[in-house]
Amino acid sequence: MSLLVDVHTHLDHSLLINKLDEIIRRAKNIGLKHIITNGINPETNRICLELSKKYGIVECGMGVYPRDALKKEVETGEAQLKVEEFDIDEEISFIKENKENIVAVSEVGLDFVNGENRQQIEDFEKMIRLAEELKKPIVVHSRKAEQKCVEMLESSKNRKIVMHCFSGKKSLVKRIAGNGWFLTVPTIVVRSQQFQDIAKNVPISQLFCETDSPYLSPYKEQLNEPAFVIESYTKIAEVKNMDVNEVINNIYMNWQRVFE
Ligand SMILES: [Zn+2]
Repeated sequence: MSLLVDVHTHLDHSLLINKLDEIIRRAKNIGLKHIITNGINPETNRICLELSKKYGIVECGMGVYPRDALKKEVETGEAQLKVEEFDIDEEISFIKENKENIVAVSEVGLDFVNGENRQQIEDFEKMIRLAEELKKPIVVHSRKAEQKCVEMLESSKNRKIVMHCFSGKKSLVKRIAGNGWFLTVPTIVVRSQQFQDIAKNVPISQLFCETDSPYLSPYKEQLNEPAFVIESYTKIAEVKNMDVNEVINNIYMNWQRVFE
């Protein structure tokens, strides 16, 4: 059955980009129907757009990721790309021009790992408004800023909110689920109690699966890739005591409600 979806990847990443033909082939073989690849700045937004045109199963998300956090990730080698200064309003115009080519405003959010940052809050506010205006789902990264993210999103009329790799407290998970938003179960769930709890406690009608490729691999020695998303489905089936096909069907219905 080919109804698997991987709602969060970075296929433009330098560790993956040269192997994409094989990666996409393996994804199709295991039954993936859609993969979202996310831009995080002007350069990656454009690469993700190209990838979505090249590969039928790849969909494009565009956004502006917390800029100071990204700079830090580049410095430490976690992210491998050039980071140039840019005008966010120009990038918003570019995203608007491409609204027919994107399935989400993604990846955006707040990351206070290096402290609270005013520019991030302003940028995120603009991304929230952009998603509202385009009537697109918003896929949110939050690190050390979970409460602030939830508060800002609660001021939005957008109902299509997906909290990606959410590591906040249980009370916030409850609040997110109560708001009717969505949470992802990343493949790292195979060894993360936090995500097993999310898989267990959040209704199946509000869950998505993702790999976050090339990061957070379920297999220690291997880079993550979309084909591994099956691990998330299997784990959800296990902790919810459901048939895996039932999990696949339910999450596909979520996909149709949110991203189509
Ligand atoms: Zn991401």
